Amino acid sequence: MRKQIAAANWKMNLNLSEAKNLVNEIISSSYGLNNDQIVLIAVPFPYLIEIQHLLKGNSHFNVCAQNCASTCNGAYTGEVSAKMLNELNVNYVIIGHSERRLLYHEDNKTLAQKVDLALENKLTPIFCCGEALETRDDENQNNFVENQLKESLFHLSAEHFSKIVIAYEPIWAIGTGKTASSDQAQEMHKHLRKVIEGKYGVAISESTSILYGGSVKASNAKEIFSKADVDGGLVGGASLIANEFIAIINSLK
Ligand code: PEP
Repeated sequence: MRKQIAAANWKMNLNLSEAKNLVNEIISSSYGLNNDQIVLIAVPFPYLIEIQHLLKGNSHFNVCAQNCASTCNGAYTGEVSAKMLNELNVNYVIIGHSERRLLYHEDNKTLAQKVDLALENKLTPIFCCGEALETRDDENQNNFVENQLKESLFHLSAEHFSKIVIAYEPIWAIGTGKTASSDQAQEMHKHLRKVIEGKYGVAISESTSILYGGSVKASNAKEIFSKADVDGGLVGGASLIANEFIAIINSLK
C-alpha cells in the first residue's frame, strides 16, 4: 500500500521558540496513525537538528528539508548540499517548490540534478509540480505538469523512481486561499499516475504517493484526501497553526 503523508511546509516562518512550541503542540495530540501514514515537517535549515530532536521517539514524524543544492560541494556560498542533510540524518527534502522555481529560477534540468543528488544521498525527494493559472485557463495543465515530471524525473531508473513522492501544487492555489476542487485534484493525480504507469509500469505507478498542495486546511482536507489518487497533502499556511495541522493529520485516510 502506498504511503499517506501529511507534510507541513513552514517556509521561512517562525522563530525558534515558536517552532519548538508548535511541534510540541502537534506531537502532544494523539493520532491513530498506521504504518503507512507519515507526517513530515519541512523546517528552515537552522532548525533541522532541534526539531529532529523533539520528534525523536515519534515513529510517524520526520523532519524534512525545504531544498538542497544542485551541486555536490564547492564554492556555492549559501547553499546546503544533499550530503550535508544526509549527515544530519535528514531523510526527506522538498525539491522544485513553485517558490523556488519562480523566485530562484530553478528549471526542470536543475531540479533533475537536485533529485539525483538527493537520491544518491539517501534522501526521499518530495518533488513539486504544478501549473500557473494561465496554463489552466488554456486547458494545457495536463501536458505542462506531465512535462515537469518527464524532464526532472523520467531519466531515473525504476528503482530510483520508486523512492520519489510527488506533490501536485497548482500555483494559483498556493497561499491564495483558492483551493483546487477535490475533483480537479483527483483528475490531475489520476493523469499523473497514468503517465507514470506508461513509463514505469502499473506496480510503481500504484505505489507512488501523490500529495495535493494548495490552500489545504482543516475544513477541506478530508474531502480532498478522500479522493482515490490523492495520498495526503503538502500544507503551507495551515501548517503553522497547531489545531489546523492536527486536524489535517487526522484527515489522512
Ligand atoms: C505550499 O507552500 O506548498 C502550500 C501549499 O502553501 P499553502 O498551503 O499556504 O497554499
